[in-house]
Amino acid sequence: MTKYIFVTGGNVSSLGKGITSATIGRLLKGRGLRVTIQKIDPYINVDAGTMNPYQHGEVFVTEDGAETDLDLGHYERFIDQNLTRNSNVTTGKVYESVIRSEREGKYLGGTVQVIPHITNEIKSCIRQNARKSRAEVVIVEIGGTVGDIESMPFLEAIRQFRNNVGAENSMFVHLTLVPFLHSGGELKTKLTQHTVKELRGIGIQPDMIICRSRRPMKDDLKAKVSLFCDVPKECVIDAVDTDEVYELPLIFDDEGLADLIIRRLGITTDEHDMTEWKEMVKTIRNPEGKVTIGVVGKYVQLRDAYISIREALKHGGIASRAQVVTKLVDSTTLERGCPPKQLEKLNGILVPGGFGYRGIEGKIKAIRFARENDVPFLGICMGLQSAVIEFARNACSLSGANSSELDPDSPHPVIDLMVEQRSVTDMGGTMRLGAFPCSLNEKSIAGASYNARTVDERHRHRYEVNNKYRERLEKHGLAFTGLSPNGELVEIIELPANRYFLATQFHPEFKSRPTRPHPLFASFVKSAVEHSKEKGI
Ligand code: GLN
Repeated sequence: MTKYIFVTGGNVSSLGKGITSATIGRLLKGRGLRVTIQKIDPYINVDAGTMNPYQHGEVFVTEDGAETDLDLGHYERFIDQNLTRNSNVTTGKVYESVIRSEREGKYLGGTVQVIPHITNEIKSCIRQNARKSRAEVVIVEIGGTVGDIESMPFLEAIRQFRNNVGAENSMFVHLTLVPFLHSGGELKTKLTQHTVKELRGIGIQPDMIICRSRRPMKDDLKAKVSLFCDVPKECVIDAVDTDEVYELPLIFDDEGLADLIIRRLGITTDEHDMTEWKEMVKTIRNPEGKVTIGVVGKYVQLRDAYISIREALKHGGIASRAQVVTKLVDSTTLERGCPPKQLEKLNGILVPGGFGYRGIEGKIKAIRFARENDVPFLGICMGLQSAVIEFARNACSLSGANSSELDPDSPHPVIDLMVEQRSVTDMGGTMRLGAFPCSLNEKSIAGASYNARTVDERHRHRYEVNNKYRERLEKHGLAFTGLSPNGELVEIIELPANRYFLATQFHPEFKSRPTRPHPLFASFVKSAVEHSKEKGI
């Protein structure tokens, strides 16, 4: 029988439900169990694809081409497993499906209602993911905070779910905030009591309460939560703030979290292996060097907008046993004519993906700086497109070169809309999305980094390098070292004249894991380490 763990959150958003769910997944994998994690987002958007990164952070892309919530990135990194579109459910998706059935007449004249039609659809999404993933334990994170109007149908659905599968096969984990009040110098549990009361009002009694706190919780405080919230004392888990998220599985393991879950769900397993994870954390905690990488983009005010890139850089650092400091550089400030002074102390420059014109000229400036000063450079998606524009303009004398996304009247559209995108009018879910194969040139940095002939990488774009300009760009020294198997689409470019100048049309950051750093991030950071040693910065 499949076991289900439902993770809810109280008090405030951004408590770390995503990381907590991912951590539980990691711990159960360490016990030799097949797991999967699913995120339920109460917003009405059908998927995260149409959302501005300022609102929800980065859009994470799965292997099968779904544009999802960034928590799926945490899940994949922690459990080291590819997830699918079934791992992200939204209100929009649920209603879309129910309304389609209604239009098809499937409800045979019945009144279509939140209970049971919407809740049934939610439960069927959970079951479908469980079936398709063939997991032994399914972790379901409910987005938002208990008490939000939008999450009500989801909470009702999981309440019913417990009844359907039996209490012995399901458990509720509730994450709460235990604030530290400076005036009294103590941690406070009242917020936890209130949110649990609210949860019980909905009919859900938590089996375990994970308390986010700044200081360790003493035993008497745990006893208080236990008494007021009706959970055994050992099921009140203290989640003290840590500066290193990858340490969380080890902290929770020490708290006995996995043992409690296994016991509660009646699972028997003798395995308990966190060696690889421990080694990885040890490497992070004991770096042998330090490099600074500038990420030049326009969404720099929100940390989460480039979360997978930041994590992938960190993973690249693990491969080189170096600490990577990521400095976010606002491309719009470079654009406004600021001298590239902010770029001078960097050991590497990364230009990430993006949409629209704002900030592009700043990215191009940063790329020119990297190219002319031989600073290691990694471009991703729009980063590749900006690098081609820069090279066309400044090395091939194609003045006015641009992408037709940014300047439809450019005399040299070196980046142009893909043929299959020309008739597309809908914005949601219509880009070239998900994993596609890429053939590598063996004698290139890409070929050497991957040590493979073909790789699958995840995409999210509409535009591509215009094949009409390929010959001209090549003549001036740009190399196309990764192509689609039929040779029609440019996937990777390099400048062999530089120490490390590489850009990809795909998003390598989505496939990087702390225990398996992505080959391109590993080679990029390695080159930054060499740059640092050579320049003494
Ligand atoms: N806007 C560009 C395109 O659609 C790049 C997209 C991206 O960077 N993800 O092709």
